[in-house]
Amino acid sequence: MIQEYRAHETVNPGGDPSLLIVCDHASNATPEGYGTLGLPADEFARHIAWDIGAEGVSRALSRLLDCPVVMSRFSRLFIDPNRGEDDPTLIMRLSDGAIIPGNRDVDEAETEKRLDLCYRPYNAAIDAAIARAEAETGRGPNIISIHSFTRQLRGRPERPYQVGILYDWDLDTAGALLKSLRAEADLTIGDNEPYHGRLPGDCMWRHATRRQLSNALIEVRNDLIETEAGQEDWAARLAPHIEGAFSKT
Ligand SMILES: [Zn+2]
Repeated sequence: MIQEYRAHETVNPGGDPSLLIVCDHASNATPEGYGTLGLPADEFARHIAWDIGAEGVSRALSRLLDCPVVMSRFSRLFIDPNRGEDDPTLIMRLSDGAIIPGNRDVDEAETEKRLDLCYRPYNAAIDAAIARAEAETGRGPNIISIHSFTRQLRGRPERPYQVGILYDWDLDTAGALLKSLRAEADLTIGDNEPYHGRLPGDCMWRHATRRQLSNALIEVRNDLIETEAGQEDWAARLAPHIEGAFSKT
């Protein structure tokens, strides 16, 4: 029997087709039978399994900017949709000091199964949202990817910024976001931090770079968006910057 799983959700699918938000690490769910991949439940609730707060920020942005959001419904420890299919970190054996028992013996057949259950349907949902924008407006949407990062990884210094803007080739969009966010005196903004935005095979590479669609990835420090109030506040804070960045390009 082929197992089926609801691997993605599109919020506000009829919203403004010129902007698409994607949220790769919205959830720490797994398909039936996988549980917490052998990890204690409290380990699986940590940032290693998902981007804490990113779903709430994305939903609020969808409402504030009236745009569609495609979000995953599976844990990045099950399979990471922000990696290429052949990336060695597609299914992590180890993350921030934790060994993932349920991933220890993953072979090629199991990798294929997880690709078909979650990874490929999620990517197909993003493709469908882009196709809808092309059909309705004659061009692909601008794309913003929402993630969250943890203040401190094991053994490393604390990260000093609240928000990071990650980008590859689209310096116009990233530059506009960096400039307008840096004008807010109480914010410290990471420039291609905590990670570099150039990762061939990742979600933005597949969906935006290959189509030359304007895009940027926004990382918010996860302790700021743990609560619904924090998620609403930060979405309200980011929304005008996103709007402004694309009105300039
Ligand atoms: Zn993420």
